[in-house]
Amino acid sequence: MKPILPGSTIGILGGGQLARMLALAAKPMGYNVIVLDPDPDCPASSVVDEVIIGAFNDPNAYAQLAQVCDVVTLEFENVATEYLEVLAKSVPLRPSQHILAKTRDRLLEKDFINKTGVRVAPYQAIEKLEDLAAARFPGILKTATLGYDGKGQAKVYSKVEAEKAFLRFGSVPCVLEGIVDFFLEISVIVARSGLGVQCFPIFENQHKDGILDLTIVPARISETTAKQAQDAAVKIAKALELRGLLCVEMFVMSGGQIVVNELAPRPHNSGHITIEACQTSQFEQAIRAVCNLPFGSTELYSSGAMANLLGDHWEKGTPNWKKALESGVKLHLYGKKEPRAARKMGHLTALGDDALEIVKRAREVL
Ligand code: AMP
Repeated sequence: MKPILPGSTIGILGGGQLARMLALAAKPMGYNVIVLDPDPDCPASSVVDEVIIGAFNDPNAYAQLAQVCDVVTLEFENVATEYLEVLAKSVPLRPSQHILAKTRDRLLEKDFINKTGVRVAPYQAIEKLEDLAAARFPGILKTATLGYDGKGQAKVYSKVEAEKAFLRFGSVPCVLEGIVDFFLEISVIVARSGLGVQCFPIFENQHKDGILDLTIVPARISETTAKQAQDAAVKIAKALELRGLLCVEMFVMSGGQIVVNELAPRPHNSGHITIEACQTSQFEQAIRAVCNLPFGSTELYSSGAMANLLGDHWEKGTPNWKKALESGVKLHLYGKKEPRAARKMGHLTALGDDALEIVKRAREVL
């Protein structure tokens, strides 16, 4: 595989915050960046060379993108496979449409991980109401596709509750998962290209209402568990024949065993801390991976923490940035104009042993 050298043009499907941070990594390396997004004011719009304005089901938009790009990557995986198949005929798509077809469907994804020998939570396909007859409760009912940040998910304690949730989701195909009694949650971000494979240090994640709230790096787990987690991520990346970045979200059990929750074949919210904490950020590594350039070191400069800023922090008006920044945190805002509840608007990071306390306190004074 030939390298795609600086001066070339990278296309990104989606113009949200991940595309914005990918562009902020690609531009200093000399790449041109073009995103496809329906919103001309999308978060990436102010930092990219061009926004191709189009819906994700508009074949003309994909044709335009293919014409001007040397490689295309993405910031979200919920694009229908039929469009990706066509796109991949004219321009390299990394990660490939075959990977995306698996990771956009929880059921296919779990079947795939199972086949690699890596453990996932017990699960059952629920395609129609009758499938709930033999189900075990309690569990978490999740729509097989289009769910994110806790959306399309319901904890269900009985068949009646599961039926209600299934109908509320519109009777679409679902997965019923057993509830994992985990000790903590981690994620492993792994990059793979024609030149090899490389993991980031492990991130420890705390969620609130199904949305990532805080990340700590390195995760407070034993070396044995860390090795097991990285081995599992590499195994999955290789089995997928990944070209690009993959985040593997995992549960850690009290005995240290790991259980995979889900995959995201793109930069991940838990990896935002790499911008400050690692020698190479997840965004730069993603660019290197899709362009088949040698990887940068993922070594930590320092331990660190990240706190997400959701639209809820705007409830009482514009947050007090001055006060928050007095504590030495770094501020990242995504340029979203409308601060809706539960919408990811930005994040704060800090380095050092007290990083978690620092980002939490800074967020409180907002
Ligand atoms: P997901 O969208 O699947 O990543 O789920 C969001 C969050 O819900 C996870 O990070 C966990 O905190 C929780 N969760 C999801 N699935 C399970 C499960 N099977 N058992 C326990 N907690 C879960």
